Amino acid sequence: MTNKKPHIAALIVAAGSGTRFGDASVPKQYTPLLGRPVLRWSVDRLRSCKDIAQICIVIQPEHKTRCQAALTGLDDIQIVDGGATRQQSVRKGLEALAKQPPDFVLIHDAARPCVTDALIDHVIQSLVAGNDSAIPAMPVTDTLKKVDRSGKVITHSREGLFAVQTPQGFSFGKILAQHQAHAHENLTDDAALFECDSLPIQMVNGIRDNIKITYPEDIDAAAGILSLACGDIRTGKGYDVHRLVPPRDDARQLIIGGIVIPHDKVLDGHSDADVGLHAITDALLGTICDGDIGMHFSPKDMRWKGADSGMFLQHAAQLLAAQGGLLMHADLTIICETPKIGPHRDAMRKRIAELLHLPLNRVSVKATTTEGLGFTGRGEGIAAEAVVTVRLPFATSYTAAQNIQPSDDAKITRIAP
Ligand code: MG
Repeated sequence: MTNKKPHIAALIVAAGSGTRFGDASVPKQYTPLLGRPVLRWSVDRLRSCKDIAQICIVIQPEHKTRCQAALTGLDDIQIVDGGATRQQSVRKGLEALAKQPPDFVLIHDAARPCVTDALIDHVIQSLVAGNDSAIPAMPVTDTLKKVDRSGKVITHSREGLFAVQTPQGFSFGKILAQHQAHAHENLTDDAALFECDSLPIQMVNGIRDNIKITYPEDIDAAAGILSLACGDIRTGKGYDVHRLVPPRDDARQLIIGGIVIPHDKVLDGHSDADVGLHAITDALLGTICDGDIGMHFSPKDMRWKGADSGMFLQHAAQLLAAQGGLLMHADLTIICETPKIGPHRDAMRKRIAELLHLPLNRVSVKATTTEGLGFTGRGEGIAAEAVVTVRLPFATSYTAAQNIQPSDDAKITRIAP
């Protein structure tokens, strides 16, 4: 190995049908987990690793629409049709990557969404150190029983037994050659292809939280693990006002909460003036201390003239996601005398839930008047308030902030007892 930075690819295996998962109408890799499909968690974890230059996913061809929905906002992922077995699917993925062969490939099961940056790094470091394989493994700690055909139960020694996980890392050329040479086999992991020809396998420490979603109850277990990892709970608040004016042209419509509302006046503003989405956007930016909507989308910038505010909202949500954040809940209050919001409330909730990829029961829209008082009472404008709740990983900067040393100035001004 030279000092040149190795080219590392990740191959995510999402082509399973999940026969043990129960509800076959939603395959386990597309089941919602804390608001995102299981597959998206796995993709985001591998994508956040700076050393991984490209990602390829193998899927069932009939799941293409589900997969594209799961990857919304990501345009740098290669999608390849899988085969009838896991082994065939991995081979097809490796052959797709072989057009521009990487030095190493990490093969990961989509159904392990709790994989950590540290484990991914551990596998990569082992490969870079000169191993042709790096397999995360945990010693088996449960007592093992074997049941023979007559129903007799026999204790099986667990000595030397390990449960293996993914991502499994390999020198790309070697694992591709093994898959092609043993294409007729039906093995359940990729290290087994190395075993076929007694090639050396390097085991690295796995982690207990890197569970494989197999049964429906595993979704709750994964939600618990991921929530603990995102324990920095924050609340953001947004407030916005736009003036109500007669429409200057036929094209201008009253839009609140992403929904067109028939009315004799419209909201005045540089964009579509959607006061509701602006308030939620500011609330989201508040959770990550990233300024306000005007800083990101200046009202002087002609690119945003008449813009759909759904774009602003999704941008703020993406900034949160880029920090590993999870949006848990959004609560919007619209303050006006007219139009009546009640008839449009459900449509607004549905639109906001779509834009934020949230389940409907995590989006609230409320409305109130001000009893004829103030600018809203006089019908001069509409106001909106929003509160959002998010979960973020505890950043190292937070820990550092807790350990600020007293400055010299502080020492000088300290009063002696
Ligand atoms: Mg505004």
